[in-house]
Amino acid sequence: MTMSNEASVEWVVTGMDCGACASKVRTAVERLPGVSQVDVTLMNERLRLVLDEGKTPRDRVEAAVRKLGYGVVAGGEGAQTGTAPGLGASTLPWYRTSKGRLVIGTGLLFLAAFITSFLVSEGLARWGFVAATVIGVAPIMRRAVNAARAGMPFTIEMLMTIAAVGALFIDAASEAALVVFLFAVGELLEGVAANKARDGIRGLARLVPKTALLEVAGETREVAADSLKIGQMVLVRPGDRVPADGAVARGISGVDESPVTGESMPKLKEPGDAVFAGSINTEAALHVTVTKPAEDNTIARIIRLVEEAESARAPTERFIDRFSRVYMPVIVGVALLVALIPPLGFGQDWGTWIYRALALLLIGCPCALVISVPASIASALSSGARRGLLMKGGAVIEAAAATTHIAFDKTGTLTNGRPLVTDLVPVAGTEAEVLSVAAGVEAGSSHPLAEAILTRAKADGIATPTALGARALPGKGVEAVVDGAPAWVASPRFADSSGVLEDQVRHVAARLESEGKTVVAVFRPDRLLGLIALRDEPREDAAEAVRQLKALGVSSVMLTGDNARTAAAIAGSLGIQHRAELMPEDKVVAIREMVAHGRVMMVGDGINDAPALATAHVGVAMGSGTDVALETADAAILRNRATDIVGTIRLARAAMVNIRQNVAIALGLKGVFLVTTILGITGLWIAILADTGATVLVTLNALRLLVFNPEREA
Ligand code: ADP
Ligand code: MG
Repeated sequence: MTMSNEASVEWVVTGMDCGACASKVRTAVERLPGVSQVDVTLMNERLRLVLDEGKTPRDRVEAAVRKLGYGVVAGGEGAQTGTAPGLGASTLPWYRTSKGRLVIGTGLLFLAAFITSFLVSEGLARWGFVAATVIGVAPIMRRAVNAARAGMPFTIEMLMTIAAVGALFIDAASEAALVVFLFAVGELLEGVAANKARDGIRGLARLVPKTALLEVAGETREVAADSLKIGQMVLVRPGDRVPADGAVARGISGVDESPVTGESMPKLKEPGDAVFAGSINTEAALHVTVTKPAEDNTIARIIRLVEEAESARAPTERFIDRFSRVYMPVIVGVALLVALIPPLGFGQDWGTWIYRALALLLIGCPCALVISVPASIASALSSGARRGLLMKGGAVIEAAAATTHIAFDKTGTLTNGRPLVTDLVPVAGTEAEVLSVAAGVEAGSSHPLAEAILTRAKADGIATPTALGARALPGKGVEAVVDGAPAWVASPRFADSSGVLEDQVRHVAARLESEGKTVVAVFRPDRLLGLIALRDEPREDAAEAVRQLKALGVSSVMLTGDNARTAAAIAGSLGIQHRAELMPEDKVVAIREMVAHGRVMMVGDGINDAPALATAHVGVAMGSGTDVALETADAAILRNRATDIVGTIRLARAAMVNIRQNVAIALGLKGVFLVTTILGITGLWIAILADTGATVLVTLNALRLLVFNPEREA
């Protein structure tokens, strides 16, 4: 058997400033043997593919990219922490980049020729314009030829080259020179705008300090933050940023986690609490044990997630891509007809119509159109990421914007998820005995109810007996063997079906439940030991979130495994519809029903609601920057705020409006200049100015999303 030695490889590609660039790179490398699953992302300048190095060595791939005129550097890891070699290019001052030099060179030549035409002679000036054109078009022509060789005859560079060279032949040298100059200016501006959009998310990486104060044997010394290893201890002085994800070992202090979660209210951190790299220690010194290597810390993962999200293309974007692939050849065809038909068919002047056809070629540059959608999406994604609203790609943005119904999981989403034991009702035995058995059963569970019961047992000074074979019964409770006999902590409904509930106890449970409390029964195979009531307070902003959603025309419903009375009490206080006593699989059924009637967003805690999250059009995990929340679901809310759900929808809607504006600007301008060009109202240099202008315009429009405030009610 022959094993293929395929591996996935990644590069940073620099100089891709317009949308067509990405597809150019994609097409060129796709043709190489042994290359598959090519993914090129414009906004994070990444090329990923699966490569069989037996067929094509890496440097052949790199050579193919370089030939197209882009820079390429192996690996991409560095970029996530903001130190990518590729980033160096964008930090050069503009006049030292090759594009900048071209602008200055062609600009000076054009100016010299222009002055000559006034002061010396028209004839001499013409040669100046020709020189400016030839020098300026040479690098563009080289790129055009290389792309054509790689199987892409229709490129912006090709259109430019034909238009500029053609103009020389019909004696429009001054215009040709101006076109080449404007094209160079356009490329430069596009680069600036694209970098600005990229910076939005990379700025996050800069929030992690470069150095850390490592503590070894009672002494501190400064080391590079990315050299920290798991288990090492660092000192974080007040005012310092935390250099790594870690856990507090000693010290108590308020920590501002806004760089990671967007939440600017400092959180009190005590020994044992987790801290994120990039957050700011506000009060007192903390000694922190490193728990994650630099490339794996939460900020790095958020950035990676957003960058990956940028390559998950929205349906609209795919449409635009297909559209522009036919658009260019069509325009070239139209240009040919314009050049040939009037002179041949109607005896019109060749020069006039060739000139118009050349201008049409420039109208064929689809730069603005191709960049219109990814620019908006990249801006929206980084804008969200800086507020703790993560969306995994354009498709999620489109779906979130279209949301008509939202289903909330109750525990941890509409409520704080930190229930407290409010009542202990012993039936057989004492309060302490009930708590002791309950704690034993719950010791292995991570359910919020379990944590509450364990906390209470600890507070009451009750030792937790060891339990064997603990097993979760999803939606029902937990069972385990405690003190040699089976025991359960579960919903009264489940206890009832096990036949241990007496009428009188049932009444007590019902009364507690109608107070919005969750009741669990603690029982052995044959007898009830007692009831424990817990209350999980609704989040402060939950009612407000439901109200704001209503104002946006989105209806909300609460889904819960809790019993009907508790659910009704809590839903009533929030003004939300509800469905109770749902097993995890019932939640999926409920979502499926909703999906049949509208666009559904499901908000859950990302752990036990995974199937329901996956069934909805958009599954949103709400958790304070936890691992699971980040990795599962389509979107995640890092701050514990219900109103951030509303913010996500607002941001998604704003992004879609922005995308529509951009497509309208790009297509509209093309349409207008298509007509004016054929009519002969506008000429060559206006045509190129229109494309550059539109590109800059759509990019600037997209950048508005970076300052969009999703918290403001419209
Ligand atoms: P929710 O939909 O509110 O998140 P779950 O589906 O997690 O609720 O649980 C539904 C019900 O099952 C709870 O109200 C409780 O009665 C019972 N239950 C689930 N897990 C546990 C546990 N670890 N301890 C006690 N009761 C539990
Ligand atoms: Mg739950």
